[in-house]
Order: sequence, then structure tokens, then C-alpha cells
Amino acid sequence: MLNGILFHIFCLLVIATLTALYFSKKKIDTKETRFYSFLLVTNLIGILLHIGCYITIYFADYIPITNLIITKSYIIYIIIWTMIFSLYVCIVLFDIHGKFVTTCAVINVIASVIFIVATPLYYYHSGDIVYTYGPLLNKLYLVFYIIIGLFIAGILVNLKRIISKKYVPLYIMIILGACSAALQQAYPEILLLTALHTFVTFVMYFTIENPDLAMITQLNIAREQADRANNAKSEFLSSMSHEIRTPLNAIVGFSQALAEEDLSPQAEDEVKDIMMASETLLELVNGILDISKIEASKLEIVCVEYNFKDMLDELSSLTRARLGEKPLDLRFNFASDLPKYLYGDKVRVKQVILNLLTNSVKYTKEGWVDFTVNCIKKNGICRLIVSVEDSGIGIKLSSIDKLFSKFERLDIEKNNTIEGTGLGLAITKKLVDLMGGKIVVQSIYGKGSKFTLIIDQKIVDHPTDTSLELTQTLDVEKIKALDLTGKRILVVDDNKINLKVATRLLSDYKCIIETFDNGFSCVEKHEVGAHYDLILMDDMMPKMSGVETFHKLKEIEGFNTPVVALTANAISGMREKYLAEGFDDYLSKPIDKKELQKVLNKFLGNKNV
Ligand code: ADP
Repeated sequence: MLNGILFHIFCLLVIATLTALYFSKKKIDTKETRFYSFLLVTNLIGILLHIGCYITIYFADYIPITNLIITKSYIIYIIIWTMIFSLYVCIVLFDIHGKFVTTCAVINVIASVIFIVATPLYYYHSGDIVYTYGPLLNKLYLVFYIIIGLFIAGILVNLKRIISKKYVPLYIMIILGACSAALQQAYPEILLLTALHTFVTFVMYFTIENPDLAMITQLNIAREQADRANNAKSEFLSSMSHEIRTPLNAIVGFSQALAEEDLSPQAEDEVKDIMMASETLLELVNGILDISKIEASKLEIVCVEYNFKDMLDELSSLTRARLGEKPLDLRFNFASDLPKYLYGDKVRVKQVILNLLTNSVKYTKEGWVDFTVNCIKKNGICRLIVSVEDSGIGIKLSSIDKLFSKFERLDIEKNNTIEGTGLGLAITKKLVDLMGGKIVVQSIYGKGSKFTLIIDQKIVDHPTDTSLELTQTLDVEKIKALDLTGKRILVVDDNKINLKVATRLLSDYKCIIETFDNGFSCVEKHEVGAHYDLILMDDMMPKMSGVETFHKLKEIEGFNTPVVALTANAISGMREKYLAEGFDDYLSKPIDKKELQKVLNKFLGNKNV
């Protein structure tokens, strides 16, 4: 008996330490953790009662009533602990909770208490051996086996769903519970149940109910949920941007076409306004898409070899085009030792510089804009130092901090006539950071601003991509009016308006234009021997995508028509994606007339212009 008491004192110490540890830790408040804390506390009370049983049985002859009360209280404890554990299993394994199950458990406890109080209990006490027996205990064992039987049946029925390593401790405990009950019934003197409860709560603490582990699991779940929500947001934004681009394609395309018509001065002005407004809208769509990608850490830097000198020419002519009628002196100073070819994210480098140039032109009414590019070359790396300086409105010192925040437009009362989204510099800063560069601003309010960009790019001595040479001849300025008389161009797009826009834009080149609103007709036509000089292929089409149509065309014997991918998904890296698929080139929607002209010139024009 002394051994029994000592053993239960040891159990008491273990559970008291666990309880103290458990309640001192920060934990997540869930139903499981609440039930586990009940298990700990009841277990603690149970061990105390068990020790009390030993002592009172020993003195049973002197304090019979106390002994009876303590022993029956201990049996009630067993019922309560078993019920709490059962509720825990129901929640964790079978996902059954709610008022109904809890009410059943409470009714069971109340019925058991009445039954325990009303039923007589017999004692066996001989020398060192002490135990209780009688119909009360037999009934208890029966309830116990029924519960274990129900658990096993539940596990077998739900096996597929709940077969997980995480629950192994629970399975073991249920099996141990069944074995211990059987053993206890066969050998009532060994008094296993409280020790089993201690063991179960102890194992649970270090496996499924450890507050630290539970916190980490919960954090992981929360992170996964946040990632999923972020992905959903990115997907939503990217599909929205795609959806917005489709009608925008019509607006931009038709206004570009209209601008070339003989219009009255008022109509000409209005068309220009439509073009400017759609440009701002496009900028906004692209900006939101970029920002959401950057915030979801989804924006990748896509490095390719590129012709840097061509990029500078392009930037110069784009800035000149943005200038329009403004009386600004645009000055370009490019160092003579700039490498011709570089390796880096061409699209993003261009986007960043263009944003600085566009801003300078936008925020300078008169005077000048200086675009200077210098470099420092070392160990195959070219450190580009790009500065864009203007004599514009300048930025207040107090506003410089807000400059790179999204949707932040400074001096709004002064700038309210200037189109803008307040996204450009926020994206620029994030892109420069992603590329490992730096951007510095100096400005005197009312006098002008200077933005300096420092960015490292690899120097390419001999480009592996031979088409880089060709692009040089495709400068927008150098392209003469193309005459494509007799050339057959096929446009494939599921959207009727897009087909109309493409037809209208192509009609200036006197070519023969055919259209299909699906990939199947395009493939069928080629299978019966049709031939075109160029195909413009939309990618996102239902049933058969542009990529699938393209691969089907490639399978047709003798097919060698250049195919240009058309897409409203203007994400960086798209061009590389389509070139890797085997497409000959890529155009993003809304179709830019100059880009279209470049493509036409590349595949159908005189290459020497
Ligand atoms: P947006 O030009 O579309 O408003 P940006 O993010 O490119 O957005 O610029 C944020 C703000 O910074 C602008 O609204 C403008 O007030 C200010 N800003 C940017 N560049 C210049 C500049 N070169 N001169 C004066 N102010 C500028």
C-alpha cells in the first residue's frame, strides 16, 4: 500500500508540474485546449482522491463514512475524466462538437453520479492489498467498454479521413485504455486507472497538446490561409486586369485609328483626350497588378540579354512622344563607354527609367529635362548611373518621405491638372530594390528635381540571342510607312471587338486580313492547305487556347508561318514565356500601333529600312 501511495504521489508531482507549465504558457484558445486543461485539472483532483482512498481505506474502520465518500468521489472522478476525454476525442478525431454531444456527456455524468451514490460498494482489504468491487464497478467497466467500442468503430468508419500521424497518440491511448480496463477488471488490486490518466495527459502534453507545437501549427495554418488569400487576391487582380484590358484594347485601338483620320480640330482634341485617359487607365491597371505582385512576393526579376543602346534610343523617342507640344529642352547625355549589350531584367529597367523620365516631363512646365547615363565597369559588371533632372515644380522637403508610398500624390492642389496614379514611384522603388539597386532624390521646391538610379547589370560581350541585332533596325522612328499589299494576315481571337480592332489597325497597311474567333477553325483551315504570311494569335481563348492552337499548327506538315502571341496579360516575363513556347514574337493588348508596326516590319517588311 505504501508503494501505491508513493507511486501516486509521484503521479501527483508530474501532473502538478505539467499543469503549472501548461497554464503558464501562452496558448491558443480552442475547444481542444480547453478540454485538455479540464483533463489536467480533473486528473490532479483524481490523484488526490486516489491517495485519499488509500489512506481512508486503511483507516476505514475508524472513519467509514469519509472513506465511502472519498471512494465514491474517486469513482465519480473516473466518470468525469472519461467523459472529458471522450469529448476531446469527438472534437479532434471526429469533428463532432456542439451542444448536443456536451449535453449527452453531462446527462451521462449526472446519471452516473446518481447511480454511484445509490449503489452499494464493497471493499476488499487484506494485508497490503486494498480494492473495491461490486455491481457498481461492473457497471462502470461496461460503460467504459461501450465508449471504447464506439471510439474504435468511429475510427474504422472514418479511417480514410483521420489516418494521420498526428493522431497516433490518441489511437494508442484508446487502445491502452481498453487494455488497462481489462487488466484492472481482472486484477482489481493493481489500481491502474489514475496512473493511466496521468500517462495519457503526460503524453498528450508532449505530442498533440503541447502549447508551443499547437501555436506553431496554428501559425502555419494562419500563414497558409494568408498565402491562399494573397494568391486569390493576385489571381483576382490579374484576371481583372485581363478583363479591363479587353475593352481598353477597343478604346485604344479605335482611338489610335481615329487619330489618323481627317478630323475637325475639336474631334481631334477629343480623340487625344480619350487616348490620354485610356493611357492613364492602362497605367493604373498595370500599376495595381505590379503592386499586388510585389506585395505577394510574386514579382520575379526575369533576366535576359538585351540591347542597351536600343533601349536608350527607345526611351528617348518615347520621352519625346510624351513631351508633345510642351516647350521643353530635352537633353540626352549618354557616356561613350556604355556597353551595347547587357544582361538583366530589360522590361523592368526600362519601366523604371521611363517612369522617371515621364514624371520629369509631366512635372516640368518649361525649361529642360536632362537624361544622363554613365557607367562604371568592373569584373564584367556594369554599374549604370542614370540620372533624370528637371527644372520643374520640385518637391517639398517634407514630402520627400512620402514620395515612394503607393497612391501618394504630392502637392495635389497644384498638380490636379496632371494625370497620374501615385503608383509609379512606389513600384519604381520596389523594382529597384528587387534588382539590388538604389534610387536617390534631390529636389528644390519650385526649382526642380533630380532622380538618380544606380543599378548593376552584367556586361554581355557577344550576345547569344542574334535577334538583338535585328531590333536595332526596328526603331519606331526609322520604320517607313509599310505597304503590305498582297500579304495575308490572319488574326485569331475569341473576342469579336478585339478582331474588329486588329482589322482596323491592320487595314492601314493594305494587306489581306482574315479573322477567326476560335483555334479550331484556324487549324482546320491550315489542314486544308491555307497559307498566311503572318498569324496574330490570342492566347486566352475558351476550349482551345492560343498556345494549344499554335502547337496543333506546328504539327501540320510544311507549316512555317510566323505566329505572334497576343495577350492581355502584360506581366513581366510573358514575352519570354511565349518565345519559350516557340512563338515568333509577342504583342500585349491593348495593341500599341507602333509595336504592331514593329512586328509587321520584322516579319513582312523590308528588313533594311
Ligand atoms: P504619379 O506621377 O502617377 O502621380 P508617381 O508615383 O510617379 O505617381 O509620383 C508620385 C508623386 O511624386 C507625383 O504625384 C508628384 O507629386 C511627385 N513627383 C514625382 N516625380 C516628380 C518630379 N520629377 N518633379 C516633381 N514632383 C514629382
